[in-house]
Order: sequence, then C-alpha cells, then structure tokens
Amino acid sequence: MRDTPATLVYIAPWECSAAVAPLPPEPGDRLVVCFIRARDEERALPWHRRRHVLVRSAARHFADELRAAGWRVDERDAPTVREGLEAAVAEHGVSRLVATVPREWDLRGEFAALRPRLRAAGVTMRFVEDRGFLSTRAEFAEWTEGRKELRMEFFYREMRRRHRVLLDADGGPEGGTWNLDAENRKPWPRDRAHPVPRRVTPTPIALAAVAEAGAMPSLWGRAEDFDLPVTRAAALDWLGHFLDELLPEFGPYEDAMRAGEPDLLHSALASAMNVGLLHPLEIVRGAEARYRAGRAPLASVEGFIRQILGWREYVRGLYRHLMPGFRTVNALGASRALPLWYWDPDASGGYDGPTNAPCGMRCLADSARMVRDHGRVHHIHRLMVLSNFATLAGVVPHELSRWFWAGFTDAWEWVELPNVMGMATHGDGGVMASKPYVASGAYVNRMSDYCGSCQYDVKRRSGEGACPFNLLYWDFLARHRERFVDHPRMAMMIRNLDRMPAAELAGIRAEAEAFLAQVPWDSPHPPATTAGA
Ligand code: SF4
Repeated sequence: MRDTPATLVYIAPWECSAAVAPLPPEPGDRLVVCFIRARDEERALPWHRRRHVLVRSAARHFADELRAAGWRVDERDAPTVREGLEAAVAEHGVSRLVATVPREWDLRGEFAALRPRLRAAGVTMRFVEDRGFLSTRAEFAEWTEGRKELRMEFFYREMRRRHRVLLDADGGPEGGTWNLDAENRKPWPRDRAHPVPRRVTPTPIALAAVAEAGAMPSLWGRAEDFDLPVTRAAALDWLGHFLDELLPEFGPYEDAMRAGEPDLLHSALASAMNVGLLHPLEIVRGAEARYRAGRAPLASVEGFIRQILGWREYVRGLYRHLMPGFRTVNALGASRALPLWYWDPDASGGYDGPTNAPCGMRCLADSARMVRDHGRVHHIHRLMVLSNFATLAGVVPHELSRWFWAGFTDAWEWVELPNVMGMATHGDGGVMASKPYVASGAYVNRMSDYCGSCQYDVKRRSGEGACPFNLLYWDFLARHRERFVDHPRMAMMIRNLDRMPAAELAGIRAEAEAFLAQVPWDSPHPPATTAGA
C-alpha cells in the first residue's frame, strides 16, 4: 500500500517533459504529480485547433510516461487552474504545493488567489525557477538596472559569455563578430526546389485530440494533417533532422518567403520547445556542435542560436519586466480593429457587404491562410507581411497580439506579446526596437515569389492597381513624420518622403484612405463559419 503523499507538484502546460518539469530525478510515494486541463484557458480566445492538439497531447503523453515510470499522477479537468489545484490538494491531503514560477501573467493571478486559501488550510506553496529558460528573473533584472535602452543585442552577448556559446579561445565571439545577421538576407533562388516538409505521424493520443478539437466550435483553424511532435522522442527526432538537414543553409535563407511554404528552412521547433518537449540548451549545444564539427557554417549557426539564446530569453525577461502595462501599449495611437482577413483570408461564409471582400493581396492572404491551416508561418511572414500590414494600416497592437496568441502553435503570451507590441508594431514606442519594422511592397517583392501573381502591381506606388503596401507605407510615414523626422534610423525614409511632390503624396494618401475604406474591419473574432476543422 502506498503512503499518503505530502507534496503535490503542478505541471504547467509548458512543462511536458522531464527536461523542464519541476520534478526530482526519481518518483516517490510521498509526491503526486498534477496536470490540470483548465476550461477557462480555451474560453479566453478562439485558440487554433492545432494549438489545442499540441498542448493537450503533449500533456497526456507526459502524464502517461510518468505513470509508466512509477510516478503518482493526477490528471483532471477544472474550471480554472486555481480550482483544480485546490481540489487536488484537498483530495490528496498534501501539506505542500510545488510549482514553477508562473510563466504566464494570468497564472500569476491564479496563484496569488490560491495562496491565502491554501495557507488557511495549512498548506505551504513553494515556487521553483523556470527550468525552461537559460536566464533567471534575477539575472534579467540585474541586466536592466541602470540601462536606458534594453536592446536584445547586448543581452545576447552576455548570454553567449555566460553559457560559453560560440566563443573563441580568448572569450570573444567566434569568427570575430557577435552578430552575422547581415549575411543572412538572401531571397530563395528562383529555380531551387523547396525543402521536403518534415512530418510526424500523429500518435493515437494526438489523433484523438484532433477529433476533439474538430468538435469544439469555439476553436479556430484546421487540425487535419496535424504534423507536430507531441512527445519528447519525436521532438528530439525533429531537432536532429533540422540540425543535420536544414541548419547548414538556414542562415542565408532565413528571411526568404515562398507562397504556400510556412517553414522553408526554419526549424519550427518553437512549438515543441514552448510546451517543454525540448530544452533550449540542448538545441543551442546541438547547433554549436554542428559548427564545431564543420557541418554547418557560422552565419547559419549564429543566426539560429541568437533566436534561442538571445531573442527567446530576452522577450521572456521583457515580458515580466513590462507587464501588465505591456498589454495595452499603443505609442503610435493606432485605432483600427484587426481586419476579417486575418481570421478568414477567403472571407467565405455568408457575410454581406464589405466584410465579404476576399483579401486580394497575395502575400497577406497566403500568409493568413498558412496560419489558419498550419498554425504557424515563419518570422518574416509574421513581421514583414502580417504585422507590417497591421502597423501600416493603424491596427491597435493589442488586437494583432491577440490574433497571434490565439493563432500560432508556438505562441504563449510571454513570447507573442513582446514580439507584437515591441518588435512588430512599435506599440512600446521603441523599448525593444529603435524603429518600426515597416516596409513597402518592394521588400516583399525582393524576398518572396508573391508579387508576380498578385492582382496588384508592386512597382506602382499610386494609381490603378498600385500595391496597397506602397500606398500604406507612404501614408504611414506622412502620418508619423513629426515623430520620426529626427530619428537617425528613419532619416532616409523621411528624406524620401519629403522629396515627393506634395500633389503626388496627397494622391497616394487619398488612395490609401480609399483602400482602407473597403477593408473588412468589423470582425474582431473569427466568425463560426470559418472554423473548418
Ligand atoms: Fe503583396 Fe503588393 Fe506584392 Fe501583392 S504586389 S503580393 S500586395 S507586396
């Protein structure tokens, strides 16, 4: 007969392997491991069906693995995490609850509400540092102290030094330069075939979750052909494939876009890493080992490692540093809702009037379709198409942020919020990025194959058929001229604006206004008819 457990360990949805879960090395009778499927999580936003499949399946697999290894496991459904934990603590009669410091802001609130209730029942709570990251709260706080600017680049250098990653014998950056981004901006060669997409055969647990997601009308997007790893073994296999097959050429083409290709040479590992199936350090070490073995060039390896050791850690630190006000920043005074096109680029399903207009911008429609169909698309589609359009058009950053949070399998608030509010929309006024990431259609044309088959003409900056990105770009610069006129990194853009004849600019701005007037703005959430499981 088993002893009464003394400790309950809460496993958050992003701690789905022993690599990150707050567990001791061996199971014991005095400890019970608790997973909670909180119903409120899936009521807050119309989550993507693939996200549901990933999160639910990874947790179910991990619970099964722990059970098979001799752990006492409690899996339960509950209205909220707080209510689930309170019930589990009472049922098991434990005197101690252990959990990781909440990664997501809302969970913090739940624990704050739980603590006095447990204390009244004689139960103590202990938080442990998040094992899914390579920097601690204290380290990030120390780094921010006394700094006027919180730029990723300097934080990244410190992380390289602290973890001794890609350093030369003297402790300097391998190859003499910290950041090789300038070498990584090539478009995809016109005559080159696309990489064969990596696919994982769904486990029975994942297939059951696909069916479950399909029957949930509150969810969004497609779950069929689910293709992501939901076990640690499958995630390690996926990682190995990326490091061996894709990483060597990842760097030069990391900014390239091709229609219908959500990943190209990108790893798509963030979904697995952000539910805890992989530890960031094993990914970083694996990439560095390929470089040291002469199997991948420095520019590719550095570019990839920067995303994990630098960017991922940095955005998590900033999220904690700037919440809760980070949710509502809007430095550029944007005022529009997110267009229906993001939820439904085909706009099918019985909408009348302007909301029935399909998105004729090929780059935007294809990127939004890939999000709907795959729950992901790589960073340049996110930044330079989906976010670029929203920023130029004056969409409220929070509106865009909620769509990214709901629609991507790798999105959690700690990662999407800084990316959208800081990097993508300049909503934070320049805390993260010194200037807005905005561009005309010329950038999309240079980095993709979209424009050749688009109904718009990317070469036209005004008049019949002019690319909307061109209209909106000049309109954006004119709208915010006073703000950026003295900005060193915007100076060239503003000079180009100022050189434009006043009549031409007035014409472009009138066309931009006419274009925006026919965008379907009035659907902040996906209509039920777009669900299509
Ligand atoms: Fe996008 Fe403009 Fe190119 Fe069309 S022409 S694909 S709208 S950038």
